[in-house]
Amino acid sequence: MPTLLIRNADVLVTMDGTRREIAGGGLLARDGVIEAVGPAATLPREADEIVDATGCVVTPGLINTHHHMYQNLTRAVPAGQDALLFGWLQALYPIWTRIGPDEVRISALVALAELALSGCTTASDHLYIFPNGARLDDEIDAAREIGVRLHATRGSMSIGESDGGLPPDALTEPEPDILDDCIRVIDAFHDPNAGAMIRVGVAPCSPFSVSRELMRDSALLARDKGVMMHTHLAENDEDIVHTQERFGCRPGQFAEDLGWTGDDVWHAHCVKLDRAEIDLFARSGTGVAHCPCSNMRLGSGIAPVRLMRDQGVKVGIGVDGSASNDGADLMAEARQAMLLQRVALGADAMSAREALEIATLGGASVLGRDDLGSLSPGKRADFAVWPVTGIETSGTWDPVAALILCGPHRARDTYVEGRAVVRGGQVVTTDLDAAMRLHRKLAARLMEP
Ligand SMILES: [Zn+2]
Repeated sequence: MPTLLIRNADVLVTMDGTRREIAGGGLLARDGVIEAVGPAATLPREADEIVDATGCVVTPGLINTHHHMYQNLTRAVPAGQDALLFGWLQALYPIWTRIGPDEVRISALVALAELALSGCTTASDHLYIFPNGARLDDEIDAAREIGVRLHATRGSMSIGESDGGLPPDALTEPEPDILDDCIRVIDAFHDPNAGAMIRVGVAPCSPFSVSRELMRDSALLARDKGVMMHTHLAENDEDIVHTQERFGCRPGQFAEDLGWTGDDVWHAHCVKLDRAEIDLFARSGTGVAHCPCSNMRLGSGIAPVRLMRDQGVKVGIGVDGSASNDGADLMAEARQAMLLQRVALGADAMSAREALEIATLGGASVLGRDDLGSLSPGKRADFAVWPVTGIETSGTWDPVAALILCGPHRARDTYVEGRAVVRGGQVVTTDLDAAMRLHRKLAARLMEP
């Protein structure tokens, strides 16, 4: 039963029920679970591993609720740099048809490393293309190597161009095959227990790339298996027009009719939800992954996050895929979430502390993880240690708010389940230089004509 002691943090941000911030704080964890949180004098002096957090703020690990990790092989593709969602997708789909198992694995390794360096301890991924033998297993393998918790969602596309859908036929799969593979990966990898390092979800890509029947059958399957469900919804005006033209209803109605509301469901974006749809999400416990950089990058609009939060909708932060962000810096994403609400509603629309809360507790609630999101006894020992002695925080009056308002965006240490993934600003669980060499080589291969 190894013990881990963190002590002497300038401030330890608990995100517990009373949102305690403890000066000179620390925590004791045993076997990956927090036993005690408090000032140094209240904690033991010895442990198997001791981390001195002098000059640092300690926060719960950040939680990423939406990503397409494979897309980091196609960052800043010229044809997709200045397009709206549908045009952007059509520029990238042909490139993505060439991805295979090696690309899925190495992109996940690099994406999870990038996230961990920004203090992320749990990441959700939405993988919805499986060309050339790629499988969900490939990214789960990468997550196990790097030691970040992964909620891998088995995505799908079944309506290609020849049937009036958006993606090329080569990226779609037959619906029976999709459902069979969902069952396979849930049975093989999903861990429902507290402290799970791997969970699996069911995730048809979007209303414009699958049939109504697949949406419905996916929901039935997910509920039968007791796993969560995820998709894209109401991302921009084109998306709303498409849903209305093809299905004769707004996205909220589409979701409700097909079983896609409830506390086991979370939708990415929801930029264009109206008041009635926000009420539906609040009533039903349906969660939202808010991806501010992607929404700005693709000109999708400003998601009504203030109203969602005020009405009681669960909201987490997502970096979204690295072809539409094009980074995976979760602390920067939390900052953008705060700034974007202020663009829409004024300087008091969201505080720095609320942005940090959405990125931690908010994400945990969206992913159904009551064992994560705060630093308090009984929770898992997932945390980030942020150095606040650098130039970006020099002169700050409030080191906690400064994490969002100033920086840094790189954690000194990131721990998951009481184990270091990042130490001294370096990923310690994998050879990141070697991974990046292979990543660049595979990206270059995709660029070849
Ligand atoms: Zn997305």
